[in-house]
Amino acid sequence: SGDALLGIINDVLDFSKMEAGMLKIETADVDLLSALNDSIDLMQERATAKGLQLHLELADQLPAHCRSDGLRIRQILLNLLSNAVKFTETGSVTLAAARENDVLVLRIIDTGIGITPEQHAKIFNPFEQGDNSTTRRFGGTGLGLAITSRIVQLMGGRIDVESTPGSGSCFEVRLPFQPTQWAPAASVQ
Ligand code: ADP
Repeated sequence: SGDALLGIINDVLDFSKMEAGMLKIETADVDLLSALNDSIDLMQERATAKGLQLHLELADQLPAHCRSDGLRIRQILLNLLSNAVKFTETGSVTLAAARENDVLVLRIIDTGIGITPEQHAKIFNPFEQGDNSTTRRFGGTGLGLAITSRIVQLMGGRIDVESTPGSGSCFEVRLPFQPTQWAPAASVQ
């Protein structure tokens, strides 16, 4: 109950910041591999409790570090992963990360209830949930995807979803990739 309440408070706080134009994006060196691994670790208990497989797929050319906002990348991943686990009863949830030229591509793929084209049109809007029974059945505020898509947009990226109702969904986040600028050893004091 404490976790659920904290989740709601954080959503409302972020949403208020977003409305006030105060949601800020930082740029710093990000340990991308840790962000991906930590997100999976944090979801493992919930996935196991539901009997779901949780996979992490890292493309060969994925760099371990980049310049971005590590906190926001984790927030995006946790939001999409927790939705994927929440809306999947059997099967698996996969987090796949790759780099395509100047773009970091993060895909969260599940074998859950899926999203109808009608739901697709509104789930990125604040307070919108797939259908009226969602809060009762799954909990949540309907703010997560609105906040996530705003963060992705502020980071210069985009978010899309492809889904087959009854079979599963794939949320794809594309973020501009900036390589880490390693300082030459001589300049480190
Ligand atoms: P919440 O999860 O609090 O309901 P979100 O904004 O995160 O709010 O999601 C909005 C709605 O989008 C959900 O209520 C659900 O109907 C739908 N949705 C999000 N992710 C998934 C998913 N992986 N599978 C099926 N439906 C989803």
